[in-house]
Amino acid sequence: MKKIAILGSTGSIGTQALDICARHPEEYRVTALTAKGNREKLFEQVRRFRPEMAGLADGIDPAEVPEDLRGCRWMSGKEALREAAAGTEADQVLVSIVGIAGLQSVLDALEAGRQVLLANKEALVTGGHLVMELARKKGKPILPVDSEHSAIFQCLQAAGPNRPTRILLTASGGPFRTWPKEKMHRASREEALRHPNWSMGAKITVDSASMFNKGLEIMEARWLFDMPAERIQVVVHPESIIHSAVEFEDGAVLAQLGVPDMRVPIGYAMAYPQRESTGVEPPDLFALGRLTFEQPDEEKFPSLRMAREALSAGGAACTVLNGANEEAVAAFLRGEIAFGEIYTRVARALDRLAGLPARNLEEIFEADRLARQAGKEGSTSSLY
Ligand code: NAD
Ligand code: MG
Repeated sequence: MKKIAILGSTGSIGTQALDICARHPEEYRVTALTAKGNREKLFEQVRRFRPEMAGLADGIDPAEVPEDLRGCRWMSGKEALREAAAGTEADQVLVSIVGIAGLQSVLDALEAGRQVLLANKEALVTGGHLVMELARKKGKPILPVDSEHSAIFQCLQAAGPNRPTRILLTASGGPFRTWPKEKMHRASREEALRHPNWSMGAKITVDSASMFNKGLEIMEARWLFDMPAERIQVVVHPESIIHSAVEFEDGAVLAQLGVPDMRVPIGYAMAYPQRESTGVEPPDLFALGRLTFEQPDEEKFPSLRMAREALSAGGAACTVLNGANEEAVAAFLRGEIAFGEIYTRVARALDRLAGLPARNLEEIFEADRLARQAGKEGSTSSLY
């Protein structure tokens, strides 16, 4: 039996991980569950999965915990996240919270010798060097949950000692793939949230529309697979059936296929090195008929270029891109700015702040703070 702690259990990834736990009650015991503010949903989950501890990042007064759930240890704020990452008997810690808060959680879990199942790409985007170094030191390689990175990881299982020469990182292209740039820049919240293939949390759905998600995933792949950005090719693949692929020296390409359902990569990380049922059926290739591929339009989606530039700038540039983007996306979701303004705000933050250092957590958090400030500020001109 594996013991698992889930950070961000009320979210899109967290609830799907709990679905898998419910499907295999003899395989998994849940030791900790945390959420930000959705207490009703967390109460329901605690009632069902009976973890040792549970916590709300936004805080909870013990008097507010329903009587039947008081056997569980309730915690609040950052302490709750730290306890869930490192303080219970978990073998595995699924980090599926949103944002840079995931970085501390990943480091805490690794430090405590836990196996990290990583959905939170921001941890690698902002602190990839710290995370990978600690994972190496502890002998606990990170198991990716992001579908593309899970696909690459699965392909590499078949590679033995051979290193791939290139990674083919697939992207659906999002809801605006076929839209003219000007129309995309004026897109509404509803249009940006209408992802053609995947059902995910709001932030990552907007990132898929802007392709900042793919930019963040280039960074994630760079760290997870120690692959320079020039050897990571983004391939637009609107059907989202090939979740990514790797090329080898002999001309062979290995790919992983599946329907777009996150329960497959979540389940793979949870059961690794085994495979077990997830409730997902394999794709029906005859019904699909064909799979298509396109070059990404880097002029329309400057996010890809910005991500590569941030990676090559090093230091805190990726943290700056991430922090400014998070704030710009939040402003867009509140209806305060146009979609196109997200690019403008991130570009401006990078112009000003890309040279900041990121040698340790303090420097990373400071760069993040400054980037967020920049991401909140309105601009007078549109760069794109
Ligand atoms: P979500 O918004 O659906 O859920 C986020 C969860 O984290 C919720 O339980 C929320 O209460 C909690 N949370 C949010 N902010 C927090 C904070 N500051 N501190 C503590 N807890 C917080 O998000 P999601 O779509 O499940 O995504 C989670 C992570 O997984 C993100 O990093 C995302 O990029 C990544 N990811 C998601 C998908 C997907 O299909 N949803 C795919 C690949 C990667
Ligand atoms: Mg992904």
